This record gives sequence, C-alpha cells and structure tokens, in this order.
Amino acid sequence: MKYGLPLGIIGLAYSVVLFGAQKTFGWELSYEEYHAAHLTEAINLDEDSDKNPKNLLLPFNRTRIPGSEGSRETQQFIIEHFNKTLAGQWAVETQPFKENGYYFNNLIMTLQNNATEHLVLAAHYDTKIAPTGMVGAIDSAASCAALLYTAQFLTHIASHERTLEFDKLASVPVVTGSTLGVKIVFFDGEEAIEEWGPEDSIYGARHLAAQWLADGTMTRIRMLLLMDLLGSGEEEPMVPSYYSETHQEYQLLNRIEDDLLFRRGDGSIAESQLAAQVARQRKRLDPTDYRFLGLGHSVVGDDHTPFLAAGVPVLHAIPLPFPSTWHTVEDDFRHLDATETRHWALLVCEFVVQSLRSRTE
Ligand SMILES: [Zn+2]
Repeated sequence: MKYGLPLGIIGLAYSVVLFGAQKTFGWELSYEEYHAAHLTEAINLDEDSDKNPKNLLLPFNRTRIPGSEGSRETQQFIIEHFNKTLAGQWAVETQPFKENGYYFNNLIMTLQNNATEHLVLAAHYDTKIAPTGMVGAIDSAASCAALLYTAQFLTHIASHERTLEFDKLASVPVVTGSTLGVKIVFFDGEEAIEEWGPEDSIYGARHLAAQWLADGTMTRIRMLLLMDLLGSGEEEPMVPSYYSETHQEYQLLNRIEDDLLFRRGDGSIAESQLAAQVARQRKRLDPTDYRFLGLGHSVVGDDHTPFLAAGVPVLHAIPLPFPSTWHTVEDDFRHLDATETRHWALLVCEFVVQSLRSRTE
C-alpha cells in the first residue's frame, strides 16, 4: 500500500459517534476455552512449530509473487484449510485473471452463503517483487494467518450450533442464527509490480470490486474490515480510526481490546491460560486519534479503495506510520511478533461474534 496518496474519496461526513459508559466488569470473551486450547498452536513462531500441521502462520514464510510457485502453494494451503480442515463449511471461490503480464488469483470464502448481507474480512497474500526475497511477514502474512484462525474459530461455533438442538442452546445461535454472513477474502496483487499507481497496484481488489458491482454482491456487503501491516510488535505506531462511517465499529473493536487487556472484572485474565498468549500485549488501537476522521479522502492507498468508492463502509486496520520493516528485506519472520498476531486474531474473532450476534433475530 501507499501512504499519502489522496484518492479523492468524497462525501465522508464528519460525525464521530460517542459511546456512553461501558461495563467494566463481568466481560467474557466468547468461546474463551476454544482460544485457550487452539490459538497458540495456530499462531506460533517457536522452533519446531513448523512441524505442527495446525500452524497457520509459518506456511506464509516464503515469497508469494503473483503467478509464482510460492503463490500457488500458498493458495493451495489456504484453500485446503477451508476445504479439508474446516470440513467444507465454507463456499470456496477463486477469481483467476491476467493483467500486466502476470497471473493473479483472488480467494473468496463464504460462510452462510444465503445470508442477506455479509461482513467481509480481508488481507492480501501476495508479496512484493522487490526487494528480492522479501517474505512480507507483516505485509501481510500475519493478517492472513489471523484470518485463517478466525475462519477456524467461526467454523467451530457453527459446528457446535448445528449439533445442538435449537432449544438447547443457551442463546440464539450466533453464526447460524444471524442474518449477517461472513466472507473472508485473500487478495492477490495488492503490491505494485513496478511502481505504485492506479494501474499498477491492488490488482485483485480492483477485479473483485468489478465483479461484485456487476453481479450485485456489492450491495449486500455490510462492511469491509481490511487488515494490513499488522504483527510487527513495534510499540509505535498504533492503528487509528480512518473513516467516520465505521467509527462506531472501530469503537467496538477498541472496547473489545480494552476488555481483553484491562477489564476482566474477576481478574481472570491474569491467571487464565489465554492471558499468557496476549498478556504482554499493549493497546494497538488509539481511539483518541481523530486525525483522519472527516478528511474526506483516504490517506492510505490499499485494497479497500475500490470498495470504498462503491459505497462500502470500510474499517481499515493498518498502523500509521507504517512499521519500520515495511517494504524491506527485514520484513521477515524474525521481525514478526506472534503475540501481537494472536492479539489481532482474538480481536477479529470477538468482533465478528459481536457483529453477528447484533444481527440475530
Ligand atoms: Zn506492501
């Protein structure tokens, strides 16, 4: 992506949504026991973890240039995760195309295909051609792994809901009872082949947006959560709220983060098994940063722009300024922070659960 490229997105009115006082105790992370049992082995950089077939992060430790063997094997890994590990509960679509002499392929996974609207979670899986050998750990292996974990988590909930009699569920089923479905998109070709520009960047996003505009899918997209450059572990920078249209959803994500880190009223976060997985993690979201709300244009060019232009509300989870390893060979797995990657995975899982729950009937 590119910073400082005014894209002339107009019509973003400045309207900060302020939330009232929130509960400061009694908060429960949904399906916490699932995370405690599975999150660390799924997102792990420790030695030997590459031997664990449940590791979702290390398969991305390679270059993934469009059309290359690394790209094809990464696609295969992602597709098998949905088709095999997740027992075919997701509709798997691919969107192969050729542009600028390169072959690209978007991967689009859908849970609850018959839902009236969908929440879209997305990241790009391709890597930049130069510098040679860059494996794009924050750009965007970590985000892809967090999304694979989110898919696994949602599949667990859906399976659980389907195996129980409806009236035996403690509450309305979150995934199978929501009018909101989930799509997880792995974009190809986010990076420029040579130099970032409208014709040389976000190849996959432009093609998917065109398809969704043509087939009517775009009108049924409730929101796009785009993750990029996450997982560096660097103290600064934070992820600000970029768009007034989704500031409410940003505040939800921020409340979830606060609850996860600070607001376990019963103190259980300090003792739970899950705590060790996120405990040293700091705040990643900064709700006091209003720099970008109401600007009326995007300050970061990324895969969201064609969807934003089509009227889809966008929540862009990207730190600004970018982490120091961005677009250098140092953007490797030695400079990746598994704890922060798990942190984002948890935030997104809970964000989806709460979003789906708010749309149950
Ligand atoms: Zn990049």
